[in-house]
Amino acid sequence: AQTDKELLYKIHEIANDFFQHQLFETEEGTTIAYSYFKERELRDDIIKKFQLGYSPEQRNAFTEFALNKGYSKEILEKSGLSIFPENAPNGIDRFRERVLFPIHSFSGRVLGFGARILKNNVKTAKYLNSPETEIYHKSSVLYGLSQGKQSISKNNLCLLVEGYMDVIALHQSGIENVVASSGTALTVDQIKLIKRLTENVTILFDGDPAGIKASFRSIDLLLAEEMNIRILLFPDGDDPDSFSRKHPQEYVENFIKTKANDFIDFKAEILLKEAGDDPIKKAEAIRNIVKSVAFVKNALKQEVYLKEVATKFGLSEQSLFNELNVQKQIQN
Ligand code: ATP
Ligand code: MN
Ligand code: MN
Ligand code: MN
Repeated sequence: AQTDKELLYKIHEIANDFFQHQLFETEEGTTIAYSYFKERELRDDIIKKFQLGYSPEQRNAFTEFALNKGYSKEILEKSGLSIFPENAPNGIDRFRERVLFPIHSFSGRVLGFGARILKNNVKTAKYLNSPETEIYHKSSVLYGLSQGKQSISKNNLCLLVEGYMDVIALHQSGIENVVASSGTALTVDQIKLIKRLTENVTILFDGDPAGIKASFRSIDLLLAEEMNIRILLFPDGDDPDSFSRKHPQEYVENFIKTKANDFIDFKAEILLKEAGDDPIKKAEAIRNIVKSVAFVKNALKQEVYLKEVATKFGLSEQSLFNELNVQKQIQN
């Protein structure tokens, strides 16, 4: 007999086909969802490459389809794609009236979906994702890894972005070495996936407060996993998606190459701006940077970084080493 896991993979394969069919072959899909992707300037080959889909408005469209194919309510509920409340014995689809982004494993099997509403509105969450299931563990999946793994190896560099559309838009402009952690904070498991392919990561997050916060968190985690990192936040409300649609590939590539900073310059720029002329806040900023240096495991690298901080702020290496040791003790 098939195990639950095997059935869940199969259901996701069928669901993925169903949602793609809805997008391309139905009146509702083409008028509402396909046109949405066109508004966002996605080419057909890219829509197909990422197997994008659409879940229709009818509240149990997929569930009905799957039940008719012989799948049980129990396994559909386990897949996270259907729910069966007492007042709705025919089931309700988790995703309705949303465009769908299938999330693939390293080897390319569909594990779950991200789903976006078509019109931004404050009442409904913009993105909805599959829940944790026997096959989908969001903390150990990276969106785009399956499509980008070869390019990541070849370039010996992984670009890390925030969202589904960022990954897809960069592919469309010819930049394929990119993954997203998709709505969750970056995890150690995700970093280990990247590390199979490269030790070099460039963080490309949105330049908004959420992006800054996420990049600070990610820096320490990546350093602790002995990754080499550079960081670039996009200006003026842009993210990699909007930015790459405004500029040609060469410009985007060059922008990433030349504007990405090491973590010390990056943190210094943001924290010093915040600190202004306040000496206490300045000291706080330096301590914050040394805190990140304390996550670096390699002693030689640590010393190089610390020297950089010393030079940058005109401080003695001795006082920074003292602070470093304080921070290391806090971390242990
Ligand atoms: P879009 O360009 O489609 O508007 P985005 O990717 O630029 O989306 P952001 O608001 O920058 O969206 O958020 C970054 C990522 O965080 C999203 O791609 C998504 O994975 C996740 N996210 C955003 N809003 C939500 C939400 N309400 N619930 C769950 N995850 C979300
Ligand atoms: Mn954002
Ligand atoms: Mn964004
Ligand atoms: Mn965006």
